[in-house]
Amino acid sequence: MTHNYCENLNHRRPNAPVRFCPQCGAIVNMRILKQQCSEATHDKSRRNQNFFCVDCGVVLRKGAVPMAATRR
Ligand SMILES: [Zn+2]
Ligand SMILES: [Zn+2]
Repeated sequence: MTHNYCENLNHRRPNAPVRFCPQCGAIVNMRILKQQCSEATHDKSRRNQNFFCVDCGVVLRKGAVPMAATRR
């Protein structure tokens, strides 16, 4: 089964350092447990141009997600 993931290189890594892809929100490494993030973490993540939190998978930029619009 192949998925159409985004171009983020985490999808191509056998052992991605994060659970969620920051660009499309898909899980890239199931072995990393979901984190409880603080708003400060999300602020920092937002400043890194991430659309999704790599730790808990929430949408960081509502209304500005490039992949979500084409995903359903
Ligand atoms: Zn992705
Ligand atoms: Zn988070």
